[in-house]
Amino acid sequence: MTDPTGTTGTDVEADPVAADAGDPLAALRDRFSLPPDLVYLDGNSLGPLPRGVATRLSQVVTREWGTSLIRGWNDHGWIDLPVRVGDRIAALVGAAPGTVVAVDSTSVNVAKAVSAALRLRPDRQVVLSDSGNFPTDLYMAQGVVNALAGDAHLEVVAPDEVEGRLSGPDASSIALLLLTHVDYRTGRMHDMSALTAAAHRAGAVTVWDLAHSAGAVPVDLESCRADFAVGCTYKYLNGGPGSPAFVYVAPRHAQVVDPLLSGWMGHHAPFAFEPAYRPAPGIRRMQVGTAPILALAALDAALDVWEAVDMADVRAKSTALAERFVTGVERRCGHHGLELASPRDPSQRGSQISYRHPEGYAVIQALIAEGVIGDFREPDIMRFGFCPLYLRHHDVETAVDALATVLDDRRWDTADYKVRAAVT
Ligand SMILES: *Cc1c(COP(=O)(O)O)cnc(C)c1O
Repeated sequence: MTDPTGTTGTDVEADPVAADAGDPLAALRDRFSLPPDLVYLDGNSLGPLPRGVATRLSQVVTREWGTSLIRGWNDHGWIDLPVRVGDRIAALVGAAPGTVVAVDSTSVNVAKAVSAALRLRPDRQVVLSDSGNFPTDLYMAQGVVNALAGDAHLEVVAPDEVEGRLSGPDASSIALLLLTHVDYRTGRMHDMSALTAAAHRAGAVTVWDLAHSAGAVPVDLESCRADFAVGCTYKYLNGGPGSPAFVYVAPRHAQVVDPLLSGWMGHHAPFAFEPAYRPAPGIRRMQVGTAPILALAALDAALDVWEAVDMADVRAKSTALAERFVTGVERRCGHHGLELASPRDPSQRGSQISYRHPEGYAVIQALIAEGVIGDFREPDIMRFGFCPLYLRHHDVETAVDALATVLDDRRWDTADYKVRAAVT
């Protein structure tokens, strides 16, 4: 029973005003600097600017760099910043302090984790991944096996075949399982706990990519007994364009892993300038070169937003926002040939909703012109990310209205909207 305003009168959740009024995360929106009159559904690609970042950056630039110069490495603790920021990320992905470092890009961290994992299983050849994985993860894994020049090779199966492969007859050749937890196109979420356990039963180690998980869904690396993890910080963690990524190594491996990239910042004593490489104890060995302090400072400030946030609240609101979107799109746009590409069951997906549409790219461009930002992934996927720290229920209603208008009026059907930009 719906009335013309879309509310039932008895169902508080259906009424966006009531849902926003009862939202335990509502106050966090003020922590972000968001352009007015814009609904931002692309925080899964690039999170918005947290308000504290500009002040912190200007302090680090003018006071720390400008005044302390080289003394800043000691006086302002720059040398430990990758590990300090790593500890803050660890808290968001169920990892202990001292197990995560904020460093390099996710791509580079995939290479480091895959090579370290392969060296833990020198008698095995297979790097197992799935076809839902993000291309850079597969490219880097392929590059690593090429560079190692042994008989290691990459094997890619369909996402729903991973478990079978791990329990199949040839499982003893699998050195490591490399998976992205939440699929960047569809939002489909793997069962990290079950697949890690299956990999371990096969004698393999795991490398999880948390690019679309960190800050998006509850993750518990420790209780899953994950071996390695990597992830981005410019998506749901709002660290800014190109902010440093992170890498996790389980404490049981951290003293023994042999990183492919043996740089001086991963050395036991970088300022001893010894002629031979000796890895640092623990997670520091996953560092390579000098850390980008300005970018790390921005990320550090961005992470302040998470201080008092409970990931269970984030998950509950993310699910409610996405459900509001899916049911709204079903009701308003159902006849326009949109095909839901995400699992319909909220427990099977991360914090995004995707639809397939043959003119998906143009539809997204038209939607952006209406003040609702989503993005597009080849060949036909329209993606909408739901970030509970700053999105309101009524923003979702606005987005559904805009999508309905774009489709009803065929506003996407112009030549301009069909020309792909460099970044989609
Ligand atoms: C976004 C994303 C990346 C990006 O890697 P960069 O090295 O930061 O460019 C890698 N893997 C996955 C799964 C991603 O979603």
